Amino acid sequence: MRRIYLDHAATTPAHPEVAEAVLRYLTGAFGNPSTAYSFGQEAKRALEEAREKVAALIGAAPEEVFFTSGGTESDNWALRGAAYAHAQKGRHIITSSIEHHAILDVCRLLEADGFRITYLPVDGYGLVDPDEVRRAITPETILISVMHANNEIGTIEPIAEIAGVAREAGVCFHTDAVQTVGHLPVDVNELGVDLLSIAAHKLYGPKGVGALYIRNGTRMPPLIVGGAQERGMRAGTENVAGIVGFGKAAEIAGREMPAVIPRLRQLRDRLIEGLTQNIPGVHLNGHPERRLPQNVNVTVEGVEGEAVVMALDQEGIAVSTGSACGTGGAEPSHVILALGIPPEQARGAVRLTLGRHTTAEDIERVLEVFPRIIGRLRTVAGRRSARECTGCG
Ligand SMILES: *Cc1c(COP(=O)(O)O)cnc(C)c1O
Repeated sequence: MRRIYLDHAATTPAHPEVAEAVLRYLTGAFGNPSTAYSFGQEAKRALEEAREKVAALIGAAPEEVFFTSGGTESDNWALRGAAYAHAQKGRHIITSSIEHHAILDVCRLLEADGFRITYLPVDGYGLVDPDEVRRAITPETILISVMHANNEIGTIEPIAEIAGVAREAGVCFHTDAVQTVGHLPVDVNELGVDLLSIAAHKLYGPKGVGALYIRNGTRMPPLIVGGAQERGMRAGTENVAGIVGFGKAAEIAGREMPAVIPRLRQLRDRLIEGLTQNIPGVHLNGHPERRLPQNVNVTVEGVEGEAVVMALDQEGIAVSTGSACGTGGAEPSHVILALGIPPEQARGAVRLTLGRHTTAEDIERVLEVFPRIIGRLRTVAGRRSARECTGCG
């Protein structure tokens, strides 16, 4: 059975050129970039080339790119760093209710330390209203963080507008762009952001490596001390192989994006149409147009998303209920709930995220298998609830 992978929002397979580059810097050019002899200098050069490639992908200067261990670390650094850097001015932070847990869990910690957080609601499509951001700002506000595109429903937020509001008020602005960098054109100056998070493994790079963009002049404390690496901001011998792989992935993404985006949009729309128009009780979550080219998210009435994931897996098709980090929990997704969907229906959320290897045949196979599975699960669920009713007497 040919397996079909439709969970590219959780992670992507490393591009073969990426894997090749990683291997080269694990074995051959293995030197420590902080050493003065040629082994080290070769690694150092590769590190700085990778920095240039990542910077080029987002329109930044190389010295504004700081390598981290991934999206979660970048989000943690951005929020805590900016919060404590500006704590003398005030202790109010604005974010959205649909952020990744890498943001929301840091917000909880900051709340426990005396910061006040406003979690902005979203509309039925998952959009944050820039006017609501403006209204939420107080003289105490020191940081605003709104994600570029949501990892579950794919809604693309009006980041340039929100960043404009933040800039007008003189407030530092961060965006979690883990789902957009490498998938959509991202330019830190067009967006007007001060801080931006990236994860390599979401754009066909290796896991465990990412970056935080820090605009020149932004006040930001170091994340880790103990060495001069990353200009003293994130000490410790660099993950050279991972970073080189990240640079290669950034280069490839920039090159291939113009061809990949329209192709994925077309496959996405075919999948959305086939799921929502041919199967009763299947509804699209998120915005029909302001949406990532690779993202489909639907709620299926009368079934649990988790059951759909398991049943599709038996057919060799990998999808998810939403955030990979939420797997195992019976609670409906905070993102789907924020759209105003009732908890009962929110449990039926299923996310299918396409990638560069996804073909039209893959989509047709999903459209053939999906209705069959839903029919079977609904019959089982119907029988179960009938039994429960009798039990209630
Ligand atoms: C995947 C993801 C993260 C976490 O990135 P890691 O590199 O896996 O730590 C953060 N934010 C968003 C929106 C993501 O999709």
